Amino acid sequence: MSPVISVVLPVCNEEQVLSRLYERLTSVMRGLGEAYELIFIDDGSRDRSLTLLKELREKDTTVKIINLSRNFGHQAAITCGLDYAKGDAVVVMDADLQDPPELIPELITQWREGYDVVYAVREKREGESVFKSVTAELFYRVIKKLARIEIPVDTGDFRLLSRRAANALKSTRERSRFIRGLVSWVGYRQTGVKFVRQERFAGQTKYPFRKMLKFAIDGITAFSFVPLQMATYCGFLISGVSFLYIVYAVLQKLLTNRPVTGWTSLIVAMLFLGGVQLIMLGIIGEYIGRIYEEVKQRPLYLVDETFGFESEPGEGSRR
Ligand code: UDP
Ligand code: MG
Repeated sequence: MSPVISVVLPVCNEEQVLSRLYERLTSVMRGLGEAYELIFIDDGSRDRSLTLLKELREKDTTVKIINLSRNFGHQAAITCGLDYAKGDAVVVMDADLQDPPELIPELITQWREGYDVVYAVREKREGESVFKSVTAELFYRVIKKLARIEIPVDTGDFRLLSRRAANALKSTRERSRFIRGLVSWVGYRQTGVKFVRQERFAGQTKYPFRKMLKFAIDGITAFSFVPLQMATYCGFLISGVSFLYIVYAVLQKLLTNRPVTGWTSLIVAMLFLGGVQLIMLGIIGEYIGRIYEEVKQRPLYLVDETFGFESEPGEGSRR
């Protein structure tokens, strides 16, 4: 029986949460009375996650597993799951129970109403550090200002996609993946459902500050040219100000016998401009690095082995 609902779950070292996740998810899915599949993507776990998943699969064939050849990251793992998902609707959620499975019926109701994308909006975050909440909140507002498309605030990757939205998302194969932005880019009819983001059930976050920062820059560079244009704005501003200063300095020299004394103004201008130029070079570097990643055209992920899939996804989706 082909599944109506696919649930995509990226897993990286989640041995402590898997059995609880399976219980809660399964009781919700059984309650729906539709055929479903649970696609777990093991993203290079070094703990017992894969073994536990295989044990679950022995009891229950709705559990399907894709084992990636190494850790490719959260966004690549989700992409892989979407490539393999067969359902008419695909739900993407984290495996750590921060995204409550109990919200799935509500997502499905909206899908049946005719929406192609139903995203879950975090109304509140429980048990997360002040630092994480504040930086996340700030980030969503900054990217909303900068991006050329409308990206809903406080929305993670927990969402439902209709078949055509999932296919559209699959057709985007860019490397610096910021999936929540790509989903907005896809368009169609989208709506949000509010939920309270719970505390991680067990284990630790796989997004330390360094990775969060990279993810944020991925998102901004993928959806905005504003950082690049900043060089132009700064250039005009600084040229304007320095023109006024040039007039002042020349007049002072010509009209008085006290020319502007040199060292301080020179060193200030030099250090300031040097800093601005290095920052701008760095910003250009961020974009060039991403262009380089893109032209290499490496696959987004490599699969080691799969359990429970009769056929591989089409060639196109591997690239
Ligand atoms: N994850 C993954 N690969 C990674 C990092 C994370 O598959 O390289 C999974 C992780 O197992 C979890 C989800 O992505 O199911 C979200 O990660 P996490 O909960 O650590 O992020 P946070 O909620 O703290 O932002
Ligand atoms: Mg989490």
